[in-house]
Amino acid sequence: MTYKKIGPIEVVAGENNSKVPFSTSLLLHGRDGTALFDCGAGNRAYGYIKKQKNLQNIYLTHYHLDHVWGVSHFPNAQIWINPYDKTKLQNTTEILKANGRYAVSGKKGMKQLISDLKNHRSKADEPNWNLTLNREMSIYPYGQPLDIVGEKVIMIHAPGHAEGLALPYFPEHGVLFVVDHDLSSFGPWYNNSDCDIDLLIESALKTLDVDADYFVTSHHKGTVHRKEYEQKLHDFLAIIERREKTIVDAVKRGVSPKDIVYEEVFYFKETHAKNPFSMNSEKLGIAKHLARLSKQNAGWEEYYHDFLNVHGILKEYVHYESKPLPADSHPLLEKKTSHKS
Ligand SMILES: [Zn+2]
Repeated sequence: MTYKKIGPIEVVAGENNSKVPFSTSLLLHGRDGTALFDCGAGNRAYGYIKKQKNLQNIYLTHYHLDHVWGVSHFPNAQIWINPYDKTKLQNTTEILKANGRYAVSGKKGMKQLISDLKNHRSKADEPNWNLTLNREMSIYPYGQPLDIVGEKVIMIHAPGHAEGLALPYFPEHGVLFVVDHDLSSFGPWYNNSDCDIDLLIESALKTLDVDADYFVTSHHKGTVHRKEYEQKLHDFLAIIERREKTIVDAVKRGVSPKDIVYEEVFYFKETHAKNPFSMNSEKLGIAKHLARLSKQNAGWEEYYHDFLNVHGILKEYVHYESKPLPADSHPLLEKKTSHKS
């Protein structure tokens, strides 16, 4: 099995076209060994990754399950995460607050959810939180050139899709891993409590300022050249405004806060029938838009509050923010400090 390579960077596509719960990983083959970026490509890929020589470090871009669920396959690797997400990956309550289950299920529902999570039988070949939570993890810093297996890598902070999301940038090879700015026809994902629509747009547009020729996405599209990326990114972001227009038009037509969840802002009605969890995402996504509309125009506040009330959503948990932890000492940064002393 071989994967596409750009210089020392090997793009390991996930199973099923990297559709969630699978995602694309990158292998960095450097002078000093091999490093892995993200770990949710699926069992076939894990088998391939295990064969790599001297793979000691795994860098995770953010806490979402489809990017982290494979770490139990690599018990001896050191796991690195961004400054915001370590807390989430070590605490069930925190992860459920961040992903919005707390907001939608309430305190009572949460008790049930936490006990369900604990009792879930964990199999290493399927995505689940139990095998990922509580793993020992180190924190990498944002925005600093890191020496990873002898290659220069910068982890660019790109909040919005997730508050801690980091985009690995390989400046010497013109490659930016844009992760979940994935150019999919579904559109951007901001249906967790730690998401922020305006920050997502800002972060996505900033990727265009990065001096890269290749943009690698975590899902569907894979690797695209700059020109295609620019075009597709604008189409991708336009979906946000289309969703907002669907909401505004529905409210103008007199659709009630109770029924607006059936307006197919995010998901088709058939999806809701097949997958009950999609309704949680639908509700939280609409709440994010209504909060955004209220910020622009106070006239929306009443509708927003009615929406939260009628669906039993806890307003204080619709938005989640945490404090970043300090980064652990990193090989390259260590070298720098020892120079000075
Ligand atoms: Zn994600």
